[in-house]
Amino acid sequence: MSEPKKKNNRFCPIARKCGACQLQNMSYPEQLSWKMAKSIKLLSRFGHVDEIIGMDEPYHYRNKAQAAFGRTARGRIISGIYQSGTHIIATTDSCYLESPEADAIIVTIRRLAESVGLPIYDEDRRVGCLRHVLVRTGAESGQILVAIVTATPVFPGKNHFIQALLAAHPQITTIVQNINSGHDSMVLGKTQKVLYGSGYIEDTLCGCVFRISARSFYQINHAQTEKLYDIALHYAELSPKDLLIDAYCGIGTIGLIAAKQYGCRVVGIENNETAIRDAVINKKRNGVEQVRFLCDDAGRFLKAAAKENQRADVLICDPPRAGCSRDFLSACVALAPQRMVYISCNPETQARDLGFLAKNGYRVRKIQPVDMFPHTAHIETIVLLSYKKEWDCR
Ligand code: SAH
Repeated sequence: MSEPKKKNNRFCPIARKCGACQLQNMSYPEQLSWKMAKSIKLLSRFGHVDEIIGMDEPYHYRNKAQAAFGRTARGRIISGIYQSGTHIIATTDSCYLESPEADAIIVTIRRLAESVGLPIYDEDRRVGCLRHVLVRTGAESGQILVAIVTATPVFPGKNHFIQALLAAHPQITTIVQNINSGHDSMVLGKTQKVLYGSGYIEDTLCGCVFRISARSFYQINHAQTEKLYDIALHYAELSPKDLLIDAYCGIGTIGLIAAKQYGCRVVGIENNETAIRDAVINKKRNGVEQVRFLCDDAGRFLKAAAKENQRADVLICDPPRAGCSRDFLSACVALAPQRMVYISCNPETQARDLGFLAKNGYRVRKIQPVDMFPHTAHIETIVLLSYKKEWDCR
């Protein structure tokens, strides 16, 4: 399956149940116009909004696929996506956003589970084994990680299962068993056993290599992420003498690419310990020396830096949907980096934060939406701001 037959009017048979593709009743050009109009509505009071950057091929862009497993009333094993807001599985063997290879692996796992009688986890009775499967593919490397999520460490017939899966899909590079005994809606648990290969895959993004494990945060749309990062770094105008703060840095992607391409020094801040551990490994993997990663709250770090009169030339921030905290924004103003590049996956909170920065000495100079999530209503925007000292004297 590659191209949907109808590119509009709900081409996916489970669209309504799944709910992830809120815009799929529109053609792709209509979706881009819709996102553009929304960006203009929220952000044009700060400056001109450049034309949204879309995808040439807006299908199968997700490098992460996941499926929940269950049984029908008659006992047949099913897999698919939770219907929005529920734990009812909308059964499907393919998704227009996911990679067909990943979807085929999920179907094989379901068939194998059926043939070997692997117990499927029953959420109500809290018994059974198989809960979810997650597949991550390296867009550039072609490497594939399969995470089989079970409710207990026991995985009956594990060796035979793995051999059969590898025989059907020899392109799989690693398989892990993730144990999730929790009762919330998290897909992955904290404990993991490597069943085959290294337990992680690597992928290349803007010329740097990144290690991705089942639990790592990694941007899901490779092609658009490269465009997003290129624009953000172009806006940042970095030179080797600059110190860049990469706030909300995840596994260190933006900072490492910046250091490698522009020779600048970088401090990356992230509050998730696992992500910081990955970032440190990624730093070594790419042989970049002049980068430090710290596990801290971005607001607290910036506040302390401002108090100690530290200097930063450029700040890139890429916060989660909630946007930046007031502490973080006040500290930005106190630290006053000349350029700030604010990447956001939620233009509503970004507009709120830009309002604060604009009142406190920053001017918005560029606004660029990028379509990272075709068919969904999500909008990603990059905004370049400069501090008044710089634009006053221009
Ligand atoms: N820039 C990265 C990650 C962006 S996602 C990339 O492009 O891949 C946002 C990141 O912010 C997540 O990794 C999340 O763990 C982190 N985060 C959330 N709240 C934070 C806080 N208060 N301080 C520091 N990091 C935070």
